[in-house]
Amino acid sequence: MVRRMATGFDSLALSPALQAVVAELGYESLTPIQEQGIPVLLAGKDLVGQSKTGSGKTAAFALPVLQTLNLEDRTLQAVVLCPTRELCGQVAREFRKLGRRHPGLAVLTVSGGEPGRPQSEALARGVHVVVGTPGRVLDHLGRGTLRLGTVRSLVLDEADRMLDMGFEEDMEKILAEMPKQRQTALFSATFPHSIHVMSGRYQKDPVRITIEDPAEDEGQIQQAVVIVSPEQKIDALASVLATHPHESALVFCNLKSSVRELARRLSDAGVVTEALHGDLEQFHRDRVMAMFRNQSIRVLVATDVAARGIDVADLELVVNFDLPHSPEVYVHRIGRTGRAGARGISVSLVTPGEKRKLRDVEHHVGASIERMKREPETAATLLERIARDAKMAMLQISGGRKDKVRPGDILGALTGEAGGLEASEVGKIEIHDRWSYVAVATDKGKHALRSLNAGKIKGRRFRATLIPPQRHS
Ligand code: ADP
Ligand code: MG
Repeated sequence: MVRRMATGFDSLALSPALQAVVAELGYESLTPIQEQGIPVLLAGKDLVGQSKTGSGKTAAFALPVLQTLNLEDRTLQAVVLCPTRELCGQVAREFRKLGRRHPGLAVLTVSGGEPGRPQSEALARGVHVVVGTPGRVLDHLGRGTLRLGTVRSLVLDEADRMLDMGFEEDMEKILAEMPKQRQTALFSATFPHSIHVMSGRYQKDPVRITIEDPAEDEGQIQQAVVIVSPEQKIDALASVLATHPHESALVFCNLKSSVRELARRLSDAGVVTEALHGDLEQFHRDRVMAMFRNQSIRVLVATDVAARGIDVADLELVVNFDLPHSPEVYVHRIGRTGRAGARGISVSLVTPGEKRKLRDVEHHVGASIERMKREPETAATLLERIARDAKMAMLQISGGRKDKVRPGDILGALTGEAGGLEASEVGKIEIHDRWSYVAVATDKGKHALRSLNAGKIKGRRFRATLIPPQRHS
């Protein structure tokens, strides 16, 4: 007799047809997100699901959707929004694979980079499931070729990536066209604050499922201090930066003047650095924050006031160049790292005269903080080690929301035949009223600049410029 494992598909209330398909596909056991997510979705509840890439999230939502489809009724019943054309293709393929015992099932991808006409024709004939990018779905809504009044389930797949790519407004417009009575499932690999906000706006009492990756530490912040004289702080900072590998680090100073001075020292040493403080104009601050969010600067030096509102999903390193004046501020500063199950490190430079302040902090966090030794080398040699390009380069495009420029348009201009970049080489896209920002892989910056300036977006020419990190001298 075959002993059935508790994590088998037959432990779920899935239809015999779906049970048969997963058996045919050789899926023997459920992945954790499927085990926990499928019952929630079958029960009709909203879901927020977080688990790492490759953990079977697609089947976790596709199986319940397939189970609830009424195939006889050729109207649109489920919509899946994905950030890119490639992902839409993958999700649609999985739907068709899992739906092979659902005769007459019609799944349509509605994404950019392919002509709209055949999509409109297929929509007119009627489909059960649409898998699309927000941009193209919105296009069809605008033309009246797609109507969402009959949709009962909505899936936002890779929601964090959709926000990164600036699809928030498009999604909002699409959501406004959906029936209020519907099921909404949201999947995301990371959980920045913006995802909580999104869930709060679009979902009803969602069940939240987070699958921790056992290979990784739980989202914890490792705290350390370095006791150092004021004169040696720069050396100590250089040591911290050089010994903690990071893509982007946030360094706090208590004073604007220290921010300026430190940014100058770091950029003089060749580290891609920006400064953020209250004296900068709002435009400049927004731009620096955009650069930090899209990883086109390596070190951001900031005052508390200016750093307010920085929402970075997986910041690896926070350094207190100065210990803040209150323990509450300390907790707030270091809380910017170690989010979403990621491991974060915070290091504070503390002068011998500040030991009392440090005790207050330790009292407040309820633990003693590890003392760390610094490298005996000087700042100059240490900074040489980390003086390399940031991961991304940022471009500014002279068209924005008021010019009806949307993320998909920029992505389209950069990828495919027109742009020559892979979607994976394009980072965050931010659309502002009069301009937009897009991050691309550093070594593709010049190429992206040329293709944007040579090509058109929405049939119009816009000017693109590469935003270099500022000189701070
Ligand atoms: P995610 O969206 O979480 O990144 P996918 O849904 O793309 O992951 O799934 C990754 C791969 O795992 C796919 O090829 C899928 O067919 C396969 N897969 C999904 N569920 C199972 C399962 N229970 N057993 C074996 N393979 C699975
Ligand atoms: Mg996926």
